[in-house]
Amino acid sequence: MPKFIFVTGGVVSALGKGIASASIGYLLESRGISVTMLKCDPYLNVDPGTMSPTQHGEVFVTDDGAETDLDLGHYERFIDRELSEDNNITTGQIYDTIIKKERRGDYLGRTVQVVPHVTNEIKERIVKLAEDTGVDVVIAEIGGTVGDIESLPFLEAIRQMRLDLGTDDTLFIHLTLVPYIKTAGELKTKPTQHSVRALRDIGIQPDILVCRTERELGLELKKKIALFCNVEIDAVIDARDVDSIYEVPLRFHEDGFDGIVISKLKIEAETVDLSAMETVVERIYNPKHKVRVAVCGKYVNLKDAYKSITEAFLHAGAENDARVELVWVDVEDIEREGSPDRILAGVDGVLVPGGFGERGIEGKIAAVGYARRNGVPYFGICLGMHCAVIEYARSVCGLTDAHSTEFAPDTSAPVIALLPEQEDVVNMGGTMRLGGYDCVLSAGSRAHEAYAADTVRERHRHRYEYNNEHRKLLESKGLVSAGVYAKADLVEIVEISDHPWFVACQFHPEFKSRPGWAHPLFREFIRAARSYNELRREEEKPAEGVRAAG
Ligand code: GLN
Repeated sequence: MPKFIFVTGGVVSALGKGIASASIGYLLESRGISVTMLKCDPYLNVDPGTMSPTQHGEVFVTDDGAETDLDLGHYERFIDRELSEDNNITTGQIYDTIIKKERRGDYLGRTVQVVPHVTNEIKERIVKLAEDTGVDVVIAEIGGTVGDIESLPFLEAIRQMRLDLGTDDTLFIHLTLVPYIKTAGELKTKPTQHSVRALRDIGIQPDILVCRTERELGLELKKKIALFCNVEIDAVIDARDVDSIYEVPLRFHEDGFDGIVISKLKIEAETVDLSAMETVVERIYNPKHKVRVAVCGKYVNLKDAYKSITEAFLHAGAENDARVELVWVDVEDIEREGSPDRILAGVDGVLVPGGFGERGIEGKIAAVGYARRNGVPYFGICLGMHCAVIEYARSVCGLTDAHSTEFAPDTSAPVIALLPEQEDVVNMGGTMRLGGYDCVLSAGSRAHEAYAADTVRERHRHRYEYNNEHRKLLESKGLVSAGVYAKADLVEIVEISDHPWFVACQFHPEFKSRPGWAHPLFREFIRAARSYNELRREEEKPAEGVRAAG
């Protein structure tokens, strides 16, 4: 019989509900309890695939090709399980299903209503996820903040689930803010009290309160919150700000969070061993080395747009004993300046991440050129591979007009072109080449060395692809095809062998990186950046004689 944990949030958004949920998942998994996680998003889009990064942040792609909320990335990284399209439900999907049913006549004679039809559909999806995965516990995070109109049907559905299943099999966790008011010099509990009241108004009494705070809550405040919010003192969890998200489960455990979850749900659990995560955190906090990597993109003020990439760099830094300082470069600045030289001077690696649209494309291509000419380690992801191919075609192969047909439909050298399967696509939602595909690696390539495997499986999200018509020429001039999707003969990785480290891939490796298991390409990129950094500092050192004279 599966059990259900529901996580809601109050007071303000952006309290880290996804991380808190994922951390509980991690702690339960560490105690031998199998977990899957679900994100319920209250918006009407069927999925976030059609939203701009400014609206939504990163779109996380699962192996089965679903475009999902970025919280699924946190879930996968913390519970280390592959999730699927069933792990993210949106109001859009629920309504889509119901309206199709209504048109088919499934509800013939009846009025279709939010209660019970919408709430039933939500409950069925949650229960089905438990059945299909066969896990001990489903952790369902309800997006949005209590009090929003949009999330009401989800909250009503979980309220009913408590009624259906009882208190041993359901648990309500509510995440709130306990702000520190500078002028009063105090932490304030009133917003938390109001948030719990709003939740109770709709029939949900939280069992556990997780309080985000800048300072230690202390016993007195815990007592006060417990009294006013009608929860046990032990069930008021101190969620203090920490520097790394990977420390969150460690602090939760220290405050007895997993213990109280297990006792409330009456689960038998193993004792916990958190040493693996402790090692990761220790390595993140105390590295010996430092490297600077330029991330050259368009949404550099919006770090959520590159969430999985940022995390992958943390994992890769931890494994290379290095702090990876990300230098966010707005590629339009490179265009305005007419050269990347000043902006990229002093970096140890250049990354061009995935992206869409023409804006900033020449700045990205210029960043690739800088890395290629100067022997600076380069890592390209998706659009970053397109830019690498275009730059190589233009600068090394003499195809000065080379471009992607995404940006220049009439180019005489379409080195990147629309995938044939994309030609007749009309709908925008869920129609890219999405999800996991196998990639066969060429012996002797850097990718082969990094992965130490002949075939790997990686996730995709794109419409355009390296055009085989130009492949022979580019290969003959030294652009190695290091990985291929054999079934359709699509080049998935390109490399330059006489460069310290120049690797670009069509897929998104960042989605598979984990704390304690950095993705091999990120790991090797950072290793190369470290070598480059050492070399650079060697060269910058004044010669012995000069120093003596000075
Ligand atoms: N815009 C490019 C395409 O659709 C690249 C997509 C990406 O970087 N994810 O093929």
